[in-house]
Amino acid sequence: MKFIGAHVSSSGGLENAPLNAKEIGATAFALFTKNQRQWVAKDLTDKEIEAFKEACQKCGYAPNQILPHDSYLINLGNPTEEGLQKSRAGFIHEMKRCQALGLDRLNFHPGSHLNAISEEECLTLIAESINLALSKTEGVTAVIENTAGQGSNLGFRFEQIAFIIDKVEDKSRVGVCIDTCHSFAAGYDLASEEGFKATFTHFDKTIGFKYLRGMHLNDAKKPLGSKVDRHESLGKGFIGINCFKMIMEDDRFNNIPLILETPDPTLWPQEISTLKSFVK
Ligand SMILES: [Zn+2]
Ligand SMILES: [Zn+2]
Repeated sequence: MKFIGAHVSSSGGLENAPLNAKEIGATAFALFTKNQRQWVAKDLTDKEIEAFKEACQKCGYAPNQILPHDSYLINLGNPTEEGLQKSRAGFIHEMKRCQALGLDRLNFHPGSHLNAISEEECLTLIAESINLALSKTEGVTAVIENTAGQGSNLGFRFEQIAFIIDKVEDKSRVGVCIDTCHSFAAGYDLASEEGFKATFTHFDKTIGFKYLRGMHLNDAKKPLGSKVDRHESLGKGFIGINCFKMIMEDDRFNNIPLILETPDPTLWPQEISTLKSFVK
């Protein structure tokens, strides 16, 4: 099965996310479980948890169709002690929210070295942060998203993600989310059929499809290798629609949330139905 959706709003209550997803014809969705610009939120009440679970059930969304995203403030490879502690606490807080909501994965950007430590030191800190978070929670997989390589963000090469996974103790609770725009910006040519094949052969060799827990489907506003993270609506950017057709026709992308983070939400119903039409 292909589960296709978008990163929807949960304003007014988390239970609105599945309702918003249903409204646009989605069979998957992503959400923030709290304000993404704040470090912590009040603990969820039993009532809020129940309302969310009930709405998911009513709208037909199981945990493997839902990809929560953490706060952008969190940097699990932060070179300063204070920043690292704050990030680790924030991440554990978000993992616990997912656990309370019955969700089985949390998507996050690996981290940034801020030009203060080496790439390897930063990746090691990230792995240690994941180990710490996994030891404090149950049932939630930490899903590392590949990045565009903007600024000092790491995780733009598959090898960097493999390096982190290698240092994670519980491999059953670490996964990967591949963002098509980030991959393209990082230099993986998803615009051509040849490039697409080569990229995912390389992905399988370095990381492995068994770790794939989600995808972000975005076209790119900037050319190949730009290192700039600017999403575009499907078919309107430098990647082009064929990449998304190839994903829909490929069984290796089955049974995981495939999430649009494209800039124009009014196009989501159309984008979702186009993607659905590609599925054989
Ligand atoms: Zn993304
Ligand atoms: Zn992005």
